[in-house]
Amino acid sequence: MRAAAMVTLLVLGAFAQDSPDQAVAKADETSGGLEIERGEDQLALQIRAAEELVYVVEVDLGPIKGISVGDARFITKVEDIEGVLVGSIEGTFKASHLGYKLDQRLLSRHVTGEQLALESSDTQRGSESRRRELRIGPRDGEWVSEYRFDGHCSGCKDKAHFVHPRLPWDKPAHCKKCKRGKHRVWRDMRSRAVPAHTLDFLSVIYLLRSLIESGEQQLQTPLLEKDRLWNLGMEISEGRLVEVPLGVFKCSRVLLQAAKPESEPEGGEFSGLFGMQGSLHLWVHEETGVLVQIDGELPLGPLDLGVKIRLKEAKNLMAEFAPAGG
Ligand SMILES: [Zn+2]
Ligand SMILES: [Zn+2]
Repeated sequence: MRAAAMVTLLVLGAFAQDSPDQAVAKADETSGGLEIERGEDQLALQIRAAEELVYVVEVDLGPIKGISVGDARFITKVEDIEGVLVGSIEGTFKASHLGYKLDQRLLSRHVTGEQLALESSDTQRGSESRRRELRIGPRDGEWVSEYRFDGHCSGCKDKAHFVHPRLPWDKPAHCKKCKRGKHRVWRDMRSRAVPAHTLDFLSVIYLLRSLIESGEQQLQTPLLEKDRLWNLGMEISEGRLVEVPLGVFKCSRVLLQAAKPESEPEGGEFSGLFGMQGSLHLWVHEETGVLVQIDGELPLGPLDLGVKIRLKEAKNLMAEFAPAGG
């Protein structure tokens, strides 16, 4: 509470003559970042300018623990695009194991002002290709989402996608199913009503900082995964020292619980960050809420592997983010 009030005061000071009517977004003087208001009963989301976090991705293979298979990177940015402030969070994940390659890029852009919207995309390359796009924002007074994804272009007319017949008397026909990126087309856009200020998972990682700052122990937020709506509960749990390549940090464990609102159809498992499924534990720095480690399960090719994502580099963080003991 104390820190939030301080930021607001600084903002009022800095923008008194500039744009006092900017209701949904305020430049945050302390980080050169952006504070995105989410209505009366939801915590604001803070996006710092030019912050970068790099993690090593490690998996366990039977008795051998902690084999490095790649890295994950989170970068935040604040841009002024023709007078509209946009705060973006980019998450990339690159891993390869036994010839299976995963190369995924998530991008969440929070557009402020009159065009208020969250635009989120998920692009996967490597051994499998796919794209997903999601847009969440108010339209005619109601909040809606638009979601589209791509799939195999079975039956399209492009002769380049035709495969040679196996038998001489068969005609060339369109490839039945493959994982080639070029053989993918967008499916129809699906639109639905959503609660105001619904977030995606990547943004939620940054919302945890506001939770820590508020001094509260838990919060709930509406969350869209593809176009499935969840009520995501986050609870600050026990603390311990967590050792990662960047150092030893005093961390709190965050318990995540995704519940399906009654209005939603049954079925479907919640999938968190980078396709990680099952139980997902986040360890965040006790004082700032910065993500230090993720423990989860990752489907990598045919295997579900225990995975740890551990912080190894941090650039342009707040001064309070420091290893334990100095
Ligand atoms: Zn095709
Ligand atoms: Zn194909």
